[in-house]
Amino acid sequence: MTNSAKLNRAMRLHRSSTSNKQKVQPITKVVKNDENSVNLSLASITSNLHDISTPNRPISSDLAYNSWVVEHPSALGSFDQMMKAAKGKRMVVFLDYDGTLSPIVDDPDRAFMSDEMRAAVREVAKYFPTAVISGRSRDKLKGFVQLSNVYYAGSHGMDIMIPPRPLKPCDGKNHTTAMDKKASDVLFQPAKRFLPAIQEIRTLLEEITRKIEGARVEDNRFCLSVHFRKVQDEDYDILEAKVKSVLENYPEFHLTFGKKVLEVRPSIEWNKGHALEYLLDTLGFSNSSDVLPLYIGDDRTDEDAFKVIRSRGLGFPIIVSSTPKDTKACYSLQDPSEVLTFLLRIARWRKASSSSRSLAQIWGPGNSPRSVN
Ligand SMILES: [Mg+2]
Repeated sequence: MTNSAKLNRAMRLHRSSTSNKQKVQPITKVVKNDENSVNLSLASITSNLHDISTPNRPISSDLAYNSWVVEHPSALGSFDQMMKAAKGKRMVVFLDYDGTLSPIVDDPDRAFMSDEMRAAVREVAKYFPTAVISGRSRDKLKGFVQLSNVYYAGSHGMDIMIPPRPLKPCDGKNHTTAMDKKASDVLFQPAKRFLPAIQEIRTLLEEITRKIEGARVEDNRFCLSVHFRKVQDEDYDILEAKVKSVLENYPEFHLTFGKKVLEVRPSIEWNKGHALEYLLDTLGFSNSSDVLPLYIGDDRTDEDAFKVIRSRGLGFPIIVSSTPKDTKACYSLQDPSEVLTFLLRIARWRKASSSSRSLAQIWGPGNSPRSVN
């Protein structure tokens, strides 16, 4: 399906759900420390969700998905209720990159986001503090996103930089240089001491992957990815065993499993959830009871951020998935094209609702948005 077809479908789905007056209770209050008692208010969800189906997907898969989406309602179908709950709150937006802002592709170096998505994120960041959190290196992430009005957290949040002052509008070409040269940037790198070992491991991993067709090592600075999307199924076990054997000599590191990727990470108590909390804190939102973090992500590493939002008791954890998945997220979007629609809608919503208010009121004192084009 083309992106425009998906977008049209997303819009259709939304129209159909709203025209049927689908009752989806906003999930903004979550009971602390008791994930099973989250008040999802699902009894109000009507059976019209079962009309949702996906072309080219077996009916059995549709049934499983439809049942799952009852528990993780579409953020598009629930949009009006969500924004009603967000009124008067200060929303802070967190976005994963791969599979959320960009499609998952065979070549990780070509996971480009579309111009439309870039424009949507830029628009969102005009109205809400916005951060992109990814397992990629921060530099690579910035190279993909190319926006000056968002915060970047690379290496699963182990590499965060927050520019303290407004940055000039940019087209992305000189963005990295402009940001890195600022002496007063807030730079947070809790895994810095692991850098020499990471480079040693990188060399060893490159040696073993050279012998396995399709395997590729990506240096994310504070963590390493071994991509196996192009590896033959029969070679995967060998690859995993070899990666594990390398790590046997590095007890301070551990392996995590993402989408067609093995990730080698330093064993420190730091993940995307901690990064979310750190960013809220550094941006001056940590103790505000009216702060509402919205996080959109598609992978296991995003679950740490979903958990943090749940424990805060206020916020919108949204998973990107077109198949049923065990998740701590409360809402769902099917794919990046739905993410695009959702981002455009929250920007439009805020634009409309803020027309009579100053942006300073929206962002709170000391957090005015930087200049953007
Ligand atoms: Mg992802």
